[in-house]
Amino acid sequence: MSPFDPARWPARLPERYWLGGVQVPAMLLDTPALPAAPPVHTLALLVERGRIAAIEARAPGGAATFDLDGAFALPAFVDIHTHLDKGDLLAAGLGPERDLFTAVDRVRADYARWTETELRARIGFALRTAFAHGTRAINTYIDWPEPGAPEGPLAWRVMRQMRQQWAGRVDLHVTSLASIDRLADAQAAETLARHLAAGGGALGLFVYPGAPLQWLPRAFDLALRHGLALDFHVDEHLDPPAANIGHVARLARERGFGRRTVCGHACVLGALPEGERDRLLDEVAASGLTLVSLPYTNLYLQDNGVTTGGTRRTPRRRGLLPWHEARARGIPLALASDNHRDVFFPGGDLDLLQALALAANAAQLDDALGGWADTLTTTPARFLGSAWDGRLRVGAPADLVLHAGRTSAEVLSRPQFGRQVLRAGQRLAAADATPPDFRELSRELQPQRPRSFAQGLAAGTAPRAAA
Ligand SMILES: [Zn+2]
Repeated sequence: MSPFDPARWPARLPERYWLGGVQVPAMLLDTPALPAAPPVHTLALLVERGRIAAIEARAPGGAATFDLDGAFALPAFVDIHTHLDKGDLLAAGLGPERDLFTAVDRVRADYARWTETELRARIGFALRTAFAHGTRAINTYIDWPEPGAPEGPLAWRVMRQMRQQWAGRVDLHVTSLASIDRLADAQAAETLARHLAAGGGALGLFVYPGAPLQWLPRAFDLALRHGLALDFHVDEHLDPPAANIGHVARLARERGFGRRTVCGHACVLGALPEGERDRLLDEVAASGLTLVSLPYTNLYLQDNGVTTGGTRRTPRRRGLLPWHEARARGIPLALASDNHRDVFFPGGDLDLLQALALAANAAQLDDALGGWADTLTTTPARFLGSAWDGRLRVGAPADLVLHAGRTSAEVLSRPQFGRQVLRAGQRLAAADATPPDFRELSRELQPQRPRSFAQGLAAGTAPRAAA
C-alpha cells in the first residue's frame, strides 16, 4: 500500500508529528549528529508548528508517526531560470518556432499586444502550476528591450505586483533580459540598473554569438556599483568558435564577482573539443560562477533539424552543458525549467522533478537524487540568497516534496505520481495540489462569445474548447 493511501495519510496533518522512514539525500542534510553518510539517509523528521523540530535515525514516538516506508523527502524546489512573461504564449495564439533567433524576433513583434490582464493571467497560471509541483522560489526573466525607457516594461510592473501577491507561497525573483549591446548607451544602462536596484531585481543580459563583448566590463561595473547579481544567457548554441563563456568567467574572476554571477545555457561547452572544453571549465571553476543547465529547451532548440529544403532531419548534437565535467571541478550547477509553452518551446510545465528525470536520461546521471538533488534545491537557493538555503536541519521550514518512490529509478520514472507537497508541515489544499486546467487559462486569454442561447446560459460553468 502506498504510504500516501488515504487510509494512513490524512488530509489534515497534526500540529506535531513524525515522518518516519523517509529517505533524504545526504547532500541536502545539515545534521552533524548523524554518522558519515551514504548518498542517501533513511531517517525520521519531527515536524512541529510548520518547522523541522528534530531529525533522528528513527521515530521515537511521543507524537503521531506517519511511516513513509522509504519514500523520498526533498526540500521544496527553487527554479532559477524561467521566463514567466512569455510563458503560455501558445495559449494566447502564437505558434512555436524551432530557431532560437527567429523566436526572439517573433516575441519582440508581439510585445505591443501584451496587456496587464493577459500578463496576470499567464503569470498567475505559471505560479499556480509551479506551486502545485512543489516549487517555493522562482527567478523569472523579463524581456527588457528598451533599457532607457523611464517606466521599464509592463511585465516588470506586473511581476512586482505578483511577487507581493504570492509572497510566502512562491518567492518571486526578477531579472532583466536585455541584449548586451543595449549597454552601449551608458545612460540607458544606468536607468536599467537603477530600476533593478530599486525593485529588488538582478541584472540579466543576453550574450549571443558575435555579441559586442566590449560592453561586458560595463555589466560588471553596473552590478558592482548598484549591488546587483549578474545573470547571463550565454552560449545558447553549438558553434565552438563563437564561445563567449570564457570572457564572462575571466571578468568574474578578475572582478572577484563569481559568487554573484550566474551563466545559463553554456551549451557550446558540450560541443567543444575536449581540451578546449576543459580549459574553459577550469576558467569557470576558478571564477566561482554558477552554471545553469536547461535541458528541456536546449534539447529542443539546438541542432534543431531545420533544413533549407524543408526536409526534417533528426538532431545529432545535443544542447547540454557537460554536467559531469562541471561537477568534477566543483562548479556550482543548477537545473532549471527555462521557457514553457511559448514560441521558444512548446513543452515544459515548471516541474523540476520532471526536468531532473530528463537530465538524468540526457546526461546519464547515476542515482540522480542521491548525487544531483542539489541542482534543484540548495545550489539555486544559495545563488538567489533565499532566507532558507534548502538544507534540512532543525529549525528549517517543513517545506518538503515527498515522493512515494524509494529509489531514483522509482521516483524519476514516475515523477508526476505519488508526489505530496508539504508547506509549513501541511499538505497543500486540494485546489492547490493539482496544476490548474489549461481551459481556465484559455477562458481568461480568449473570452469567447456564447455561440447559442443555451451556451450563453452555461457561460462560466460549462467546459469550453480551448481556442
Ligand atoms: Zn532563458
